[in-house]
Amino acid sequence: MIGFGADPDEPQCSRAGCESPATVAVNWRNPKIHTRDRVKVWLACDEHRDYLRDFLEARNFPVLVSAMDEPVSFVPDGAGEAR
Ligand SMILES: [Zn+2]
Repeated sequence: MIGFGADPDEPQCSRAGCESPATVAVNWRNPKIHTRDRVKVWLACDEHRDYLRDFLEARNFPVLVSAMDEPVSFVPDGAGEAR
C-alpha cells in the first residue's frame, strides 16, 4: 500500500467541503420539477446525513435515507415525515 488519504473511487459525502467517506444515500425528489419516478441521490457521511435530510425536508421534498448498497427506485410522498 502506497500513500494515504481518500481513495478517489471511494464515494464521498455530498456536503460542500466535506471529504468524509459516504455511509448512506439520501434519496430525494423535487415534486415541482421531477416526475414521481425520478430519484436524485446525495451521498452522506454519518455526520451529515441528518443535515442533508433536514435540508431537503425543510423544502418539503420527499426524502428517504437508505444504505448505499440498497438503491431506492422511488421516493414516496411524505417519506421524510415519519420520525
Ligand atoms: Zn459529510
